[in-house]
Amino acid sequence: MERYFWHMSPRQADGIACVVCGADFLTTKITSVPVGRSPADESQVYACQVPCAAVIAKEAERMAREMRTAAGIDDADATDVADGADAVFSVDGHFGSLLRDLRALAGAEALLATTDDISTVRYLLGLTSRHAEAAMIRARLVLARTKEE
Ligand SMILES: [Zn+2]
Repeated sequence: MERYFWHMSPRQADGIACVVCGADFLTTKITSVPVGRSPADESQVYACQVPCAAVIAKEAERMAREMRTAAGIDDADATDVADGADAVFSVDGHFGSLLRDLRALAGAEALLATTDDISTVRYLLGLTSRHAEAAMIRARLVLARTKEE
């Protein structure tokens, strides 16, 4: 899987500790499964097969739902992000998605400025990193597409 995990301890980034609960796979008999990569060096990172991998899967499902809701699409309309060169600037194209990411970032900024609850701050930072990453990818896609024309 290509999902990145951020704010990891050195042991989590090295793949020897669970990215969710921090359990050490060298000193415990927990079964680990690969769940993504470290942004620092692209190395694989792991989570406990039970229950932490399910926590990550649930989070991914929730994110996918939120993204579909934000984009105004249902599952049947959910198509690959690389589809349709002529749709770059349409509401449902990369440019529309980019604008939604930027709005999400502006919203996160407003909430971060007024929140001091640590779990809310962490949630907002997670949201920020996801939307910032998506915005970067979409901005580059739009740049690449517009250069060709
Ligand atoms: Zn774990």
